[in-house]
Amino acid sequence: MRQWVDKLRKERTLRPEEFRQLLTECDGELLRYINEQAQEVSLRHFGNRIFIRGLIEVSNCCRNNCYYCGIRKGNPNLERYRLTAESILDCCKQGYELGFRTFVLQGGEDPVLTDERIESIVSAIHRNYPDCAITLSLGEKPREAYERFFQAGANRYLLRHETYDKSHYRQLHPEGMSCGRRLQCLQDLKEIGYQTGTGIMVGSPGQTVEHLIQDILFIEQLRPEMIGIGPFLPHRDTPFAQSPCGTVEQTILLLSIFRLMHPSALIPATTALATLTPDGRERGILAGANVVMPNLSPQEERKKYNLYNNKASLGAESAEGLRILQQQLENIGYQISFDRGDYKQ
Ligand code: SF4
Repeated sequence: MRQWVDKLRKERTLRPEEFRQLLTECDGELLRYINEQAQEVSLRHFGNRIFIRGLIEVSNCCRNNCYYCGIRKGNPNLERYRLTAESILDCCKQGYELGFRTFVLQGGEDPVLTDERIESIVSAIHRNYPDCAITLSLGEKPREAYERFFQAGANRYLLRHETYDKSHYRQLHPEGMSCGRRLQCLQDLKEIGYQTGTGIMVGSPGQTVEHLIQDILFIEQLRPEMIGIGPFLPHRDTPFAQSPCGTVEQTILLLSIFRLMHPSALIPATTALATLTPDGRERGILAGANVVMPNLSPQEERKKYNLYNNKASLGAESAEGLRILQQQLENIGYQISFDRGDYKQ
């Protein structure tokens, strides 16, 4: 099956039945081969430098009830918090001093965090740190809101579509949320001019190989600048508490497939992968990832942004652990890049 890997690297796509074979019949040897090919492509485009993004988890309040998410509205066992504008700016200050030039504001769809408040926070960050990129990951909003944030200085937006298949989407989300709406948001973000990120959880409950093929083809057609691929990890206070985790192997297989299809895309080695296995970050990078997102949130709030069980937020997953991260990267022949790391074709 190496021919499918070679074809994917050369032509950047495969036919659905070829993807199917790759996804269902990939053994350890083929996985090593596709990881190597993807790493080579990543090295060719980015060298041995890994971009860092400072992650600020601005609120764990959310109006939605996605069945897989630990901060869903219906979880009564979570202490809720919302950072003030001052606290967010403090995180940026600390991050800037550490060398970060991208801030990622991530949070649930918090009704108290109105469009006006977000716009004003983005403006303040942009004013104080004009040389930094601002990424938002705040869920679905009306197009006008995305436009306002963009005008205020936001450059990038992350919104994972999670699954392209409508019935699978319904298995993961309650009535009232819509796959079509999410895809429309992604379209809006692209049209406005954001560097746009999407992605999926690998091994989410009910996910089939056919769903993954649809996701691969959807992402091929969307051409996002950023692609987030992490394993599904259950959270004890969700309806999927007993569902098994996604596997490391399938996650890094998909990561490599996306790297071969999208050589210039910004692809993180996710915190979820680092939570699933201690060497997850390194394995992600060796499979073609070129971004990591250390946590800049205030230490006392980190444990409350509890998307799944045992989420990593210390050591190399934390902004203050940059030296540990540097060491881990050096061990596999990489180093941190302190550049903004914008998407380049
Ligand atoms: S996945 Fe996002 S939208 Fe869904 S409940 Fe969690 S934070 Fe809210």
